[in-house]
Amino acid sequence: MYRGRFAPTPSGPLHFGSLVAALGSFLRARSLHGEWHLRIEDIDETRCRQEYTDGILRDLEVLGLFWDGTPLIQSRRHEIYREVLDGLNIQGFTYGCNCTRSLIKLNGGHHPEYCRIEGRPWNRGAAIRFKSSSSVTCFTDLVRGFLSRAEFPSENDFLLKRRDGFFAYNLVSVTDDRETGITEIVRGVDLIPDTFGQIELARTLGYPEMSYASLPLALSESGSKYSKQNHAPGLDLRNPVQLLLRAAVFLGQEYPPEIAAAPDNLRVSEFLEYAVSNFDVRKIPVVSRKVPV
Ligand code: GLU
Repeated sequence: MYRGRFAPTPSGPLHFGSLVAALGSFLRARSLHGEWHLRIEDIDETRCRQEYTDGILRDLEVLGLFWDGTPLIQSRRHEIYREVLDGLNIQGFTYGCNCTRSLIKLNGGHHPEYCRIEGRPWNRGAAIRFKSSSSVTCFTDLVRGFLSRAEFPSENDFLLKRRDGFFAYNLVSVTDDRETGITEIVRGVDLIPDTFGQIELARTLGYPEMSYASLPLALSESGSKYSKQNHAPGLDLRNPVQLLLRAAVFLGQEYPPEIAAAPDNLRVSEFLEYAVSNFDVRKIPVVSRKVPV
């Protein structure tokens, strides 16, 4: 059974960029008669707010993007992440690190070796890093084909737990994808650099392999990714079918004139039914593009 997911961070409202990721993963899952799960990535409680979570759930419902089961809420899963981290520690895959961001930057964005060599313990206030062997040097992406790590630089020994005490994205993401039995991850290309480390972590934990499809990003006028951090505007949901159509067209999907020219003649459910049955993953473009919002 195919199981996909959408994993928004509720640090702001749902915006056009997140709609593209939501719709892309939804269409892929439903076109394969699979499940589509929702995960709220609110592990960083300083950035995330309940009102944004509520808003994201409400917007997805208005857009007809109904998920299977109950959403997984990361802020309620600390115990589970702690267990996974303890397991990695027992197997010797972690070390404590007190390096500051500026020190890592000075070292060309890579964590210097010495915390690792010293095998530092997990002191209070220390971050915890994954002792990576950088063994995953490539993977095949459904949209972009063969991807080599050399083209997507990322942190060598990535964080499992941050100095401020929050569990880090790679740890919680890999844990939760396993928990929900996800078989394929469909998300933005900006997460390709993290994927190599996530595959390595999943293998270390003995989790099954999955496949990946990276979607192009919707870029703002200035060429940067629409994101909650740069205050991308929330969606105007007065015409949900128009929004869905725009996101689907951004994903390279094509529709006959009677739909493309007058989307408001359709109900959300009718549009989605058509979009699911005509979804073609091979039409998804590789290149990210500017989109006015
Ligand atoms: N939470 C991330 C975001 O909102 C997505 C993470 C993922 O799909 O693995 O960009």
